[in-house]
Amino acid sequence: MKKIMVSIILLSIISLTLYGCFPEKSNSEAEKNTLTVYASIYPLYDFTKKIGKEKVNVHLIIPAGAEPHDWEPSAKLMAKIQEADLFIYNGLGMESWAERIIQAVDHPDLIVVNTSDNIEWLELGEEDDHHHDKESKHSYDPHLWLDPLRAMQQAEHIKNALIEADSKNKDFYEDNFLKLKEEFLKLDKEYQIALSQLSKNEIVVSHAAFGYLADRYNLRQLSVSGLSPQAEPSPNEMANLTDFIKEHNVEYIFYEPLSNSKLIEVIAEETGVKMLTLNPLGNITQEDLDEGKDYFSIMRENLESLKKALTE
Ligand SMILES: [Zn+2]
Repeated sequence: MKKIMVSIILLSIISLTLYGCFPEKSNSEAEKNTLTVYASIYPLYDFTKKIGKEKVNVHLIIPAGAEPHDWEPSAKLMAKIQEADLFIYNGLGMESWAERIIQAVDHPDLIVVNTSDNIEWLELGEEDDHHHDKESKHSYDPHLWLDPLRAMQQAEHIKNALIEADSKNKDFYEDNFLKLKEEFLKLDKEYQIALSQLSKNEIVVSHAAFGYLADRYNLRQLSVSGLSPQAEPSPNEMANLTDFIKEHNVEYIFYEPLSNSKLIEVIAEETGVKMLTLNPLGNITQEDLDEGKDYFSIMRENLESLKKALTE
């Protein structure tokens, strides 16, 4: 009996000791197994989640519902981003504050991912010459993600960076990326087929976010406010736009969920055209996020809007 008691006490001591040890160990291991990632805009956040799944803890830097063009992170958030494993951004002047993070970084382990690298950029036309980043000397259109094939290249940059940060899970990231790649190709096919059957190809949009989409599927984009949703067109530009709508038999004009549609309403009223949503996806609304929508479902909603607008 005494022996049994001693054994029980010993066992208790051992298990208590183990209990005391293990949670701490498994905690630090769990931390090591999860990459902390900050992604600037919604599409990049969505792609990162789809490639990294449970192995990444992804934060969307620009909060859902915020208009992404003029948004700036606080100093506190900037500091947090610098302590992460990865900072993923779009580039081409979309995030005027990204440069400050890169320059200020004193955390040698932070992997910075410019997802616009090695992608065929489009120069801006004269009419769209409103830069997102006014200090930038470049005049390239930043809205790469609205072309599914360029978005796929952005996702590939993200995949490569996740592997760089966490090479032991290379196969996991490669597999998830392959599945995602299939999704992009499927979406591209749907756009190709649907848009090649339509009789019209001119779209009048709120801000010039759809240049890459137009480039991919042979559409022509006319924008009310150029590259920045906040820019105000001159009376002359407004007159040109209403003339264009009348001359080209445009029946629908597109507005965006996250920016002021006042000008679009004025034009619609003046010309008698109807309004439809076309989402530039620079961010997502909280409502869409809560409903479980993602890049692909919103791109398909956009396709439905385009089909409606471009059918005679
Ligand atoms: Zn934009």
